[in-house]
Amino acid sequence: MVLRGPQTALVIGEEAQRSGAGARQFYPGLLGGTRLRAVCRSAMAFAHLHVHSEYSLLDGACRVRDLVARALELGQTSVAVTDHGVMYGAVTFYKEAVKSGLKPIIGCEVYLAARTRHDMDHDLDSERHHLVLLCRNEAGYKNLCRLVSASFTEGFYGKPRIDMELLRAHSDGLIALSACMSGEIPKLIHQGRYGEAKKKALELSGLFGGDGFYLELQNHGLPDQPQINEGLIGIHNETGIPLVATNDVHYISRDDAEVQDVLLCIQTSKTVDDKDRMHFETQEMFLKSEQEMRELFPQIPEAFDNTAKIADMCDFNFEFDKHHLPEFILPQGEDNADEYLKKLCLDGFERLYGPDRPDASKQLFYELNMISDMGFTDYFLIVADFIAYAKSHDIPVGPGRGSAAGSVVSYCLDITTVDPIRYNLYFERFLNPERISMPDIDIDFCERRRGEVLEYVKQKYGADRVAQIVTFNTLKAKNAVRSVSKALALTFQEENELAKEIPNGINVRLKDALASSARLRAMYEEDPRVRRVIDVATALEDMPKDSGTHAAGVVITKQPVREYLPLTLSKKDESISTQYTKTTLEELGLLKIDFLGLRNLTVIDDAVRDIRKNTPDFSIDNIPEDDSPTYEMLAQGKTSGVFQMESDGMTSVCVGVVAKSIDDIAAAIALYRPGPMDAIPLFIENSRDPSKIKYIHPALEPILNVSYGCIVYQEHVIEILRKLGGFSLGQADLIRRAMSRKKQAEIQKERQTFISGDPGRGISGAVANGIPKSAAGVIYDSIIPFAGYGFNKAHAVAYAVIAYQTAFLKRHYPREYMAALLTSVLGQPEKVAEYAAECREMGIRLLPPDINESEASFSVAGDNLRYGLVAVKNIGRGFIGELVAERGKNGPFTGFEEFCRRMYGGDLNRRALESLIMCGCFDGFGANRRQLMMVCQLVIDSISEHRRRNVEGQMDMFGLSGGAAEHSAGGIELPDVGEFPKIDLMRMEHEVTGLYLSGHPMDE
Ligand SMILES: [Zn+2]
Ligand SMILES: [Zn+2]
Repeated sequence: MVLRGPQTALVIGEEAQRSGAGARQFYPGLLGGTRLRAVCRSAMAFAHLHVHSEYSLLDGACRVRDLVARALELGQTSVAVTDHGVMYGAVTFYKEAVKSGLKPIIGCEVYLAARTRHDMDHDLDSERHHLVLLCRNEAGYKNLCRLVSASFTEGFYGKPRIDMELLRAHSDGLIALSACMSGEIPKLIHQGRYGEAKKKALELSGLFGGDGFYLELQNHGLPDQPQINEGLIGIHNETGIPLVATNDVHYISRDDAEVQDVLLCIQTSKTVDDKDRMHFETQEMFLKSEQEMRELFPQIPEAFDNTAKIADMCDFNFEFDKHHLPEFILPQGEDNADEYLKKLCLDGFERLYGPDRPDASKQLFYELNMISDMGFTDYFLIVADFIAYAKSHDIPVGPGRGSAAGSVVSYCLDITTVDPIRYNLYFERFLNPERISMPDIDIDFCERRRGEVLEYVKQKYGADRVAQIVTFNTLKAKNAVRSVSKALALTFQEENELAKEIPNGINVRLKDALASSARLRAMYEEDPRVRRVIDVATALEDMPKDSGTHAAGVVITKQPVREYLPLTLSKKDESISTQYTKTTLEELGLLKIDFLGLRNLTVIDDAVRDIRKNTPDFSIDNIPEDDSPTYEMLAQGKTSGVFQMESDGMTSVCVGVVAKSIDDIAAAIALYRPGPMDAIPLFIENSRDPSKIKYIHPALEPILNVSYGCIVYQEHVIEILRKLGGFSLGQADLIRRAMSRKKQAEIQKERQTFISGDPGRGISGAVANGIPKSAAGVIYDSIIPFAGYGFNKAHAVAYAVIAYQTAFLKRHYPREYMAALLTSVLGQPEKVAEYAAECREMGIRLLPPDINESEASFSVAGDNLRYGLVAVKNIGRGFIGELVAERGKNGPFTGFEEFCRRMYGGDLNRRALESLIMCGCFDGFGANRRQLMMVCQLVIDSISEHRRRNVEGQMDMFGLSGGAAEHSAGGIELPDVGEFPKIDLMRMEHEVTGLYLSGHPMDE
């Protein structure tokens, strides 16, 4: 019975409640009475145990939310998700189900290798069998994680595969179903191998136990199914192995079959019109009602009753908010982590603050106590340890990122290099005792050497305890329309017409695009094909389409990662990552750290190395912070190549503000974004003439004087709440969060507290602090917007430090800095051109590439820079490495032919040679570029001929070859032609380097 109207559903729901049917235990939400439910009165109960969600990526079309809602609507009390080979959606599904009062069953339809998981022979192992596994309990969940992880890390061959050996080792706590027609037993029956099928069934039944293995009956109206079902029932009759009925659910309702079909076309890059494409021959794979299910095998009610029995047996719950931090292994002689952390901090404190800083000392001990109470001691030791490793191996580390820079402990441990006391940064913005959650430390490393730190962490905690993190790419509006257009065989032009009407951006929804574009609406109304595309695309919008690896995130666990969650293999580099996303890992209490690669740190490092060739003592950490020439350069708008300051808008802010300190740079970074941007004119005006600064109340002055009376940072909001309203730092941060999330009720409630206080919570209120009531109200209202879009000061200051360093280098070591900067943007011709122009502006010439002078990267050449070979198109890094090595070993090249002879073999080819000629690399040898272009092939041919003859000559010595060997290679004569016209030379230079090296066509 399919129930459509809510009224019928409600009536039947109430009846069901009175009769008690469907009132299974566990999920109290079901009995609340307010939820609309429809339960078939006559039925016992039924649960879908074989369901593919959207996380079967382009296979299943059941959105988790819709699946849960529909199952409830059908009066079902539990449902399983068994995606193909993965558990990507397990936690999302679990949470959605529990929230709605439905019992979730975590499962997976795994692939079983034809032989063992290690066998990967095309002829024998391309086939694999399906098997449905469901978690009965915690042990089962752990085993499923182990199995699914191993299917990727050990058995991946086309699909993630497990085998019987793994299954035997990890069957505890799991229930197995024999799966669809692609299961081994159904396949054997289909092939007429009944005896083997029965033997397999007995084997699995032995493994999973009498109530742990079921023969799975399916009826989608497919021609082969009756024969298979007959065989399954036969085995049941002969062995007593129980039957269970499932639908191989791939979409929610019958109408969604088309959506599913399009999804399959997208996955297989086919169109619906393709004749021999993969498609489902049935439209029955939807989430059926119990009635519809029972009608499939009316003679076997127990196969349906067993679904409810299995659902009852499954009782697994995720545990959230309990931390599973890895343990830091203390060095020998240490036995107390808290003490050890304190010791490290005091060492750092001594170095950074010296003996006479009671304020800093008080803050340090306050933080240490808090960290210990909150259970994060090991966390800090772990982070400090790998940062110390990086620093001791000269791997550049950023000064800090995010709110971590607000902690004195982080500062003393060298995790950050910004003094939080000096910059008025708050620990509570980082770790709030009133809202215990995992601290979030993101760390910037040199882009090139970030991998070494990761490698260290893997070695230290064990490779199986460290993993990268999965991400999902979803079908965004435009992409969905394009993909569906292709699948529905629209022409490319039609597809473009449609896509044009949909704005770019990640938050664009098709619904909104339809509402905002009259043209799109017209097409939708008039053209049935367009309507179909848009409708299907809307159904698929935002579904995950493939998985990727998070660029920086890494999870570190106490036990091997696969003991907590399933692992997968990155398609790109075969690295191992979790099957759960970042947010889910956090919810499960696992430690994740972002190891980010920051290009600018690499630039600073490269420049510093170069500077040390002449100034061995140079250290970026010892540059003065108040260097006037550096600030003057910024005020003149010469910001090209300066971290965070390059954009036109930012440059004009710099010019306007006339920055005089790191504080000013931090403010500029914080202000230059939508929202705070509106305050820029006032900020500039006040910075130029401080007499114009006005405060609503003098009490604001000590807080806002660093930013010329303007509210710039989230820290300002916290400080105002604290100093004026009398909130604790922790309370203040909670209000800031409420403000940024626009929780109006809380904002209004705390407005009253801010003004008048709340003795119950120990809050004095602004009035008690001598601020008139009206002024207090105005102040409170003025901070609200900044809580939302204000910048985190700790982050702004840390990034301002990097910005200042790059500016300082550019000002005082322009050649070294620009060479490093140019090298960092190799492969981005527009950027190279931009910085080359900046060099010209600075009076530094960019010398053309030269076969004897150029390094792989850009390099300093006297007062100028030399073009790096890596920036020349069509030349591999391998070849450049060989070239530089050959030059180092056997001296400079002396001529074109000689160069070719020495570099022959390896990667030398005509294309590379032509590129080198076109950019003028051989100009120093006297021949012109036209001559070299003309002989280049001849030279290569002659050398290869010479080599061949040499080999033959050697064979001749042994009397193996008949003819007389001719040994001379003979110099190739240059044709008597003049150089290309200048305009052609420049065109060629531009073609291979993106730059006009010998002038500019506009000058000609
Ligand atoms: Zn299957
Ligand atoms: Zn299936």
